[in-house]
Amino acid sequence: MKPEVYFSRVGKSGREQGLSAVLDSAAGLLSRFGEGSFVGIKVTVGDEKSTGYIKAGLVRLVVERLREQGAKPFVFDTNVIYKGRRQNAVDHLDLAYRKGFTPDKLGCPYIIADGVFGTDSHAVKVNFKNIREIKIPSTVKVLEDLVVLTHITGHLMSGFAGSLKNVAMGMASRAGKQIQHSSLKPTISTKKCALCGLCMEICPASAISEASGKVFINSGRCIGCCECISACKFDAVNINWKEDANIFVERMAEYACGILSQIRRKIFLNFAMDITQECDCISGDDPGITEDAGIFASEDILAVDKACFDMLTRSKDIFSRGGRITAHLHQFGYAREIGLGNPDYRLIEL
Ligand code: SF4
Ligand code: SF4
Repeated sequence: MKPEVYFSRVGKSGREQGLSAVLDSAAGLLSRFGEGSFVGIKVTVGDEKSTGYIKAGLVRLVVERLREQGAKPFVFDTNVIYKGRRQNAVDHLDLAYRKGFTPDKLGCPYIIADGVFGTDSHAVKVNFKNIREIKIPSTVKVLEDLVVLTHITGHLMSGFAGSLKNVAMGMASRAGKQIQHSSLKPTISTKKCALCGLCMEICPASAISEASGKVFINSGRCIGCCECISACKFDAVNINWKEDANIFVERMAEYACGILSQIRRKIFLNFAMDITQECDCISGDDPGITEDAGIFASEDILAVDKACFDMLTRSKDIFSRGGRITAHLHQFGYAREIGLGNPDYRLIEL
């Protein structure tokens, strides 16, 4: 049977009503989180300047539903591997509070799941083509109940960023994030490089240096975070987009599959609104690349992502970036192959 995806069309206004409609219709899905169950709500506030993230008021609606049925929800995220305000839990929480993610506004606690320095990391055996063990925080390892709230965006490497990316990257420890990125080994084009030095400043692994008027990357030190690609305004940082990006999305699918197989009950909600070309880590206040669509909910992670993707790309594949990035198409097929979910959905428009 095809997994159901509930969908409420929402524009710039009426977002609370749209979410309430989805939650009403998906009440059967939510009801599984019963009295006393600790429900982790995965969400991200994005980096300092990002504005498109899911706001605390919407998260609170989900928190309230869960509380009404006696569950004990908490909102969580993990630290990131690149430079910014989310590299450690102290700065990360400070940023989250400034963006309105305080316990009083959310109606529940907000925690950083992998500890102060992102070092809480446990290995769990899996058996996939690219990855044999995943590294996840202890909170994720023992979690039984999960609601994933995802702001849909484009992505520098994977093209499309939905629930799959939010789980794979967002629920891994920093070590796990690095492993997923490890296939990405950028190089610098001497012809295009303007020697501005920005990539050297931004690289979290100090992998970029200059010698004899040339900038180069030490691939042994590089952790594949892609920060240099987004920093370079001269298009001088290259990767093998087709091959490397396909392995990158395969690793993400394997991580998502490994993480979700640990968790008994889960629901995924995608918010296709304020959709920027880059993800909330680097988008700032970039303009949207398409109209708002609405809110999608399903218990199947691939169904919810595919339904969302199909609706946003009905007239044009806005995530392909001129055909250079096609990994998002590879992602759905590979994720299905390894048993992450079923992208063949039934849409129920509310
Ligand atoms: S950011 Fe680009 S142009 Fe500037 S030094 Fe690095 S590769 Fe060269
Ligand atoms: S060289 Fe680029 S991809 Fe590698 S760690 Fe530095 S910023 Fe990240």
